[in-house]
Amino acid sequence: MNAAAKAPALDIQRIRADFPLLSRSVHGKPLVYFDNANTSQKPACVIEAVDQHYRLHNANVSRAVHLLGEEATTAYEGARDKLAKFINATSRNELVLTSGTTQATNLVAYSFALPRLQPGDAILTTVMEHHANIVPWQLVAQRAGATVKAAPINERGELIVERFVELLTPEVKLACVTHVSNVLGTVNPIREIARECRKRGIPLLVDGSQALPHRPVDVQALGCDFYALTGHKMLAPTGTGALWAKKEHLDAMPPFFGGGEMIREVRFDGTTFAEPPHKFEAGTPNIAGFVGLGAAIDYYRSLGFEAIHAHEQNLLTYATERLREIPGLRIFGEAAEKEAVISFLIEGAQATDLATLLDLQGVAVRSGHHCAHPLMQFYGVPATLRASFAFYNTREEVDAFVEALVKVRKLLM
Ligand code: PLP
Repeated sequence: MNAAAKAPALDIQRIRADFPLLSRSVHGKPLVYFDNANTSQKPACVIEAVDQHYRLHNANVSRAVHLLGEEATTAYEGARDKLAKFINATSRNELVLTSGTTQATNLVAYSFALPRLQPGDAILTTVMEHHANIVPWQLVAQRAGATVKAAPINERGELIVERFVELLTPEVKLACVTHVSNVLGTVNPIREIARECRKRGIPLLVDGSQALPHRPVDVQALGCDFYALTGHKMLAPTGTGALWAKKEHLDAMPPFFGGGEMIREVRFDGTTFAEPPHKFEAGTPNIAGFVGLGAAIDYYRSLGFEAIHAHEQNLLTYATERLREIPGLRIFGEAAEKEAVISFLIEGAQATDLATLLDLQGVAVRSGHHCAHPLMQFYGVPATLRASFAFYNTREEVDAFVEALVKVRKLLM
């Protein structure tokens, strides 16, 4: 996606006014929130949608015939419709609503992968994955006597696609790749990867957690089989997310959780299940959260990804240039195509010490392994600092961050 040149500019000050939390101070300093890859802040329209749901429409979904039940069901199912359109699913029934990406990958692990895995089989993933796209595969592989293989990356933090393709051997029963790395910002060439997987009849799961907040996603154009996503990184409440899957897969998959809502009829001589997606949605869902997700999608649409992407890419370029001015600073991840995430370390300083001191200056960044141990092992470091940007961030905030970093670096030298 390269829209930086012609996209209309965002009115950032107006946008910032939509996010109540951005105007608070932290330790007496104006907040600079650069931990967006961890979770995004929420616009007032999302907060108000949740508030209005509880004030006016609260009831359980799909159960009651009364008006409130109908309103809650319409709002909840309306969020499924909005999400289906947002990612260009062919049908709303291809979207299983989950608590986030982690539940989505686990659903595929237990309901799709496990029944297909034989001893000696493999699941292929990559070195740059979040643990949510590694550990579920390890758990089911262990049960089945199968293995998990990881395709390598290069020093710039790009997937070595030729090696990935070589590893797509006949024993691979599922491939799992992140769309965008949460640590490096690397954008993986999903269409090309999907094409190679299709040629070999290997289903592909894409972890879209870090893509959806930044770029338009079209699951049909990507050509994958599964797309896992999480709401709280894209302006929505925590505990919301989804698994998009091709209908043929959802039809073939047995249910994972059992309980209310996912059945057609329960009998002790044989229970029958609802049609997908409901057969995977046992129990009362996070109704208000999904109402908020619907509002978040409306908000993204009102801004448009062209403008969002252009602004974030400008911030990324500017922040990268400014950080390079700092002596001893090493950036991890210099992929040709990356989203607005910068992981780095400063020689002679611990990531956690820097993050703690930055917090005292009002700057929120994440330090640690970012749930990506294999990636840390690849670079031979235990942790990095990560500054991750959203469309509501500004160049002035980048300046404040860099100034604070220069200051705290001096304190630690
Ligand atoms: N995958 C990636 C790339 C992530 O960045 C995250 C969250 O940090 C996850 C998966 C897990 O998402 P959740 O904890 O919302 O399920």
